[in-house]
Amino acid sequence: MTKFIVVVGGVISGVGKGVSSASIGKILQKYGYSVTAIKIDPYMNCDAGTLRPTEHGEVWVTDDGGEIDQDLGNYERFLDQNIPKSHNITTGQVYRTVIEKERKGEYLGKTVQIIPHIPEEIQKRVLESSKGFDFAIIEVGGTIGDYENVPFLFAMKALERKFGKENVLYVLVTYLLVPRHMEEMKTKPTQQAIKLLSEAAGIFPDLIFCRGPFPLDDIRRRKIESSANIPSESIISEPDIDTIYRVPLDLEKENVGLKILKKCNLYPKANPNWEEWEKLVSNIVNPAKKIKIAIVGKYVDVGNFTLTDSYVSINQALIHAGANLNVKVEIIWVNAKDLEKNPSELEKLKEYQGILVPGGFGSSGVEGKIKAAQFARENNIPYLGICYGMQMALIEFARNILNLENANTSEVNPDTPHPVIDILPAQKELMKNKDYGGTMRLGAYAAILKKDSQTYKLYEETQRLEKDQEIINKTSSERLGNLETTDNVILERHRHRWEVSPKYVERFEEKGMVFSGHHIRESDNMKLMEFIELPSHKFFLATQGHPEFKSRLDDPSPMFLGFVRACTS
Ligand code: GLN
Repeated sequence: MTKFIVVVGGVISGVGKGVSSASIGKILQKYGYSVTAIKIDPYMNCDAGTLRPTEHGEVWVTDDGGEIDQDLGNYERFLDQNIPKSHNITTGQVYRTVIEKERKGEYLGKTVQIIPHIPEEIQKRVLESSKGFDFAIIEVGGTIGDYENVPFLFAMKALERKFGKENVLYVLVTYLLVPRHMEEMKTKPTQQAIKLLSEAAGIFPDLIFCRGPFPLDDIRRRKIESSANIPSESIISEPDIDTIYRVPLDLEKENVGLKILKKCNLYPKANPNWEEWEKLVSNIVNPAKKIKIAIVGKYVDVGNFTLTDSYVSINQALIHAGANLNVKVEIIWVNAKDLEKNPSELEKLKEYQGILVPGGFGSSGVEGKIKAAQFARENNIPYLGICYGMQMALIEFARNILNLENANTSEVNPDTPHPVIDILPAQKELMKNKDYGGTMRLGAYAAILKKDSQTYKLYEETQRLEKDQEIINKTSSERLGNLETTDNVILERHRHRWEVSPKYVERFEEKGMVFSGHHIRESDNMKLMEFIELPSHKFFLATQGHPEFKSRLDDPSPMFLGFVRACTS
């Protein structure tokens, strides 16, 4: 029977519930148990695809084409597991199903009510997603005081009623504020959060993770213990630290793994070995070398803050590559618009060891990104282009090497004489009908790599070629496309509408651009370009996919590994 660990937040959100949940999962894996993770988002959106990145951070893309909350990214990065979209449950999804069921008469004339029908649907989804795993970690987004969380907390409490206390554990992740004018860590909001949790849902936390700028001292530990009636071994100190990947190690110092197993009447099935993980963490903190990489993107100021959260997975993929190569990658966020306004800004890119142009949409900052790609190509600076970053590199090459004046993507200029990047016909229809939600080319698609290419060598070196017949068998024929061979196939995730126009491919090739990977669309045998590289360059690689979504600390993405290595040499 699956054991459930429900993680909820008190005091404020955004204090690392996701990382805490992922770390618990990692620890339990080390004790020999199979683990999955589920994220509950109480918002009404059915998925995160229609959310602006500045609103809710990065949109995370799953293998099965889900556009979901970025916390799922932490789960995958820590658990080294592909998690399907059904593991992100939102209020919108739950209500939609209940209303659809009601319309079909499936409630057999009963009055359909928020309680019990909404929690029942929530539970059903949780049980389906956790099937077959020893543990399911369920993170409830937001904080416990939020109105919209009531049905979710109700559903979590019902798990306990249904399966018994030893099968359901609650973890409260709270924050201990240190007001600047007092310079003292305050426990009162945490005490109130504990009270609220029991009043609102009858839930008493089994473990309390005390996040904060400093470790919890004995006095404050005792204060929480006595005022909230919580045994002191249930109170876990989780202060801010240098890297999120240290969190499982720190939690283990407080014996979180054994405490959870004990509460669940379980014993360790394996002796945790953290050696490899510790080494990678130590490389992150004390690297042998440092490099600077410019990420030329679109940044939006929200009030007094600039959000870079929309590139969280790229940031993490660079950290992973750096940890494996024992180098620190310092990221310099360069606003593409600044390169447009002030061409002298471009020269500054020389100060960096590499240039990365990430994914993006729309016309804002596009000319700056194109200039950055040109600068990297002409100055032999390592370049990594991700999705829009590949499209930008091709537009630049078309304009300056193929001499196709005003070449562009039809996304930016529908009247360009040379739409080297063009929209797929099926997508055109969707756009006409304003069908924006969940309709891009989404999720994992296979690419067939050119055997002698740099791209192939990187995927081979990192053992990412999908040679395993089982994976190929497991992937739908639509996602695999028509395979010519099976020993040079890889799978990466996608989120785009536009494509390299097949009409221009030959002309690019004649001038030295190598299309090092392609997908053959099942429906019409059309070749879609997935990877490009310039063999004459130190490192100039780009892809239509988003390899950052499959990068893990102990299994870095080949593209990022190759890029960071080139920047280091
Ligand atoms: N806007 C481009 C497209 O839709 C690129 C998308 C991306 O970078 N994720 O094709």
